[in-house]
Amino acid sequence: MTLELQGIGVSRGIAMGRAHILFHNQPDVREYLIPAFAIEQEVDRFLDAIEQARQQLKSIRNHIPANAPSDITSFIDTHLLMLSDSSLNKIPVEMIRQRRCNAEWALQLQRDALINVFNEMDDPYLRTRRDDVDHVVTRIHRILTDQEVAEHEIPDGRLKGHIIIAEDLTPADTVLMQHQGIAAFVTEHGGATSHTTILARSLGIPAIVGVESVRRYVQDNEPLIVDGETGIMLMGADERTQNEYEGRLIAFREHISSLSRYKSQPTKTRDGKAITLLANAELPEDVTTISAAGAQGIGLYRTEFLYMNRLSPPEEEEQLAAYRDVVEGMNNQPVTIRTFDLGADKTVDGGRHLNQTVVTNPALGLRAIRLCLSQPNMFRTQLRAILRASAYGKIKIMFPMISTMNELLQAKNMLEQCKHQLDNEHLEYDHHIEVGAMIEIPASAVCAELFAQHVDFFSIGTNDLIQYTLAIDRINDHVNYLYDPLHPAVLRLIHITLEAGKRHNIDVSMCGEMAGDPKYTRLLLAMGLEHFSMHPNAILEVKQVINETMLDELPSNTLEIMNAADIVEADALLELINGSSN
Ligand code: PEP
Ligand code: MG
Repeated sequence: MTLELQGIGVSRGIAMGRAHILFHNQPDVREYLIPAFAIEQEVDRFLDAIEQARQQLKSIRNHIPANAPSDITSFIDTHLLMLSDSSLNKIPVEMIRQRRCNAEWALQLQRDALINVFNEMDDPYLRTRRDDVDHVVTRIHRILTDQEVAEHEIPDGRLKGHIIIAEDLTPADTVLMQHQGIAAFVTEHGGATSHTTILARSLGIPAIVGVESVRRYVQDNEPLIVDGETGIMLMGADERTQNEYEGRLIAFREHISSLSRYKSQPTKTRDGKAITLLANAELPEDVTTISAAGAQGIGLYRTEFLYMNRLSPPEEEEQLAAYRDVVEGMNNQPVTIRTFDLGADKTVDGGRHLNQTVVTNPALGLRAIRLCLSQPNMFRTQLRAILRASAYGKIKIMFPMISTMNELLQAKNMLEQCKHQLDNEHLEYDHHIEVGAMIEIPASAVCAELFAQHVDFFSIGTNDLIQYTLAIDRINDHVNYLYDPLHPAVLRLIHITLEAGKRHNIDVSMCGEMAGDPKYTRLLLAMGLEHFSMHPNAILEVKQVINETMLDELPSNTLEIMNAADIVEADALLELINGSSN
């Protein structure tokens, strides 16, 4: 009998293989008293374990292939940094000396203290850091208690083709498993924004998270089917189901490889309308993937990642070097740099160097342009760096989360001040640099007409536009089901923005997830969107849809979708749009 378990599909793809269950049991840690004469020996044992953990992580890091996504290295680096932090390498030493307790116990007490602090903070980004603490502490505990290196850390190829079933996975685990050729993974915990999930997506490993008690239902070596798109995991599939999924797997592979032919083709509809496909980037290293995907530039460079995992914000020269690398790497293609969108789920160092406090509704609080303007020195440093980088290639500058005219004018004013400073210092920059605003708050979409008079372009951020329009916290699993790009309110706001752009003759692009979902491509084309920016992996799929579309043959009632009474009606109309003009 086929048994089906449902989780959250977080990384697309179908996998069929045997289960390999990982039991990451925390070592059983007990306290015992260390005699006074042996205290320093115990301290040495602890420090030695820290050093061994460091060597293990460095070894993992050295085995990361050069073409692996940059995220992987930074995750390992985060764990290495934690090993160098006094909260992990000094405080337990003090505890050993003061309490005269064993190293494992001191580490456990410190772990509990750190986790308690994280637990009190209702912030998803910090929750991810809490998991990191646990991963690092478990590694040290394993060394202290002489436990074997976890089975999946032995690169002997035993896991090849297996589907990993685990309570949770660390990013380091995921890297190693990818080397061993695992087919997929399914975990009990984790969410769409966890480090491991992000990694799975960039590594192309099908993955499902949030399958409650999955380790209790599955037997080791049992054949499984995983669909990373629908979040369905099947056990004991009958022949018919197996054949069905084998067919789907083949079709998925053929689909991915068939897309490569679009790489060298220009992006235009069958009736000749040229469309721009741009990529979203998070780190300077992303340029390689972006160029390989055939993007025509970067439509959104999320600079806030430069500010993360460090104790102080990057200085002007460091930022200049990062932006210059990106723009030079893009060989004269345009790069839209967004000023730091920190705050809400994207805090830095727990907000310490920005004096941020934990607030009840962080998404409605001091984030993005609001934070930029409240930290004028930090903002100016970034504006100067972006301006200076514009001397090396085509850069545009974009302000996130604009909600009032005053914010926009203040930001532009600061940009002008920075230009004057650079003039006085005889430093070069592009005097005609384009300035744009993100439209991601309903207020700014409604008033797009007014903002259009003061900017060179708009970029629609649907992730936040949907969050704020429908009052759905985009990272809250409980209300995720309400997250709907087809809601008439969302579509109407997009429409208003596109129309305002047309009337004022300024470019309007879209850089939220909606732009990278081929399901919405035709609808967006019909609404008049000409510039799409997305995760590089999505580019060829969207390009395929564009290149196969005859705009003239889209149903004449396409825009009726903005009046759809409910999701059923909207979905039916979308199906009609997507089924037409092939
Ligand atoms: C958006 O909100 O759609 C967007 C692109 O910005 P971010 O996802 O970084 O908030
Ligand atoms: Mg946004």
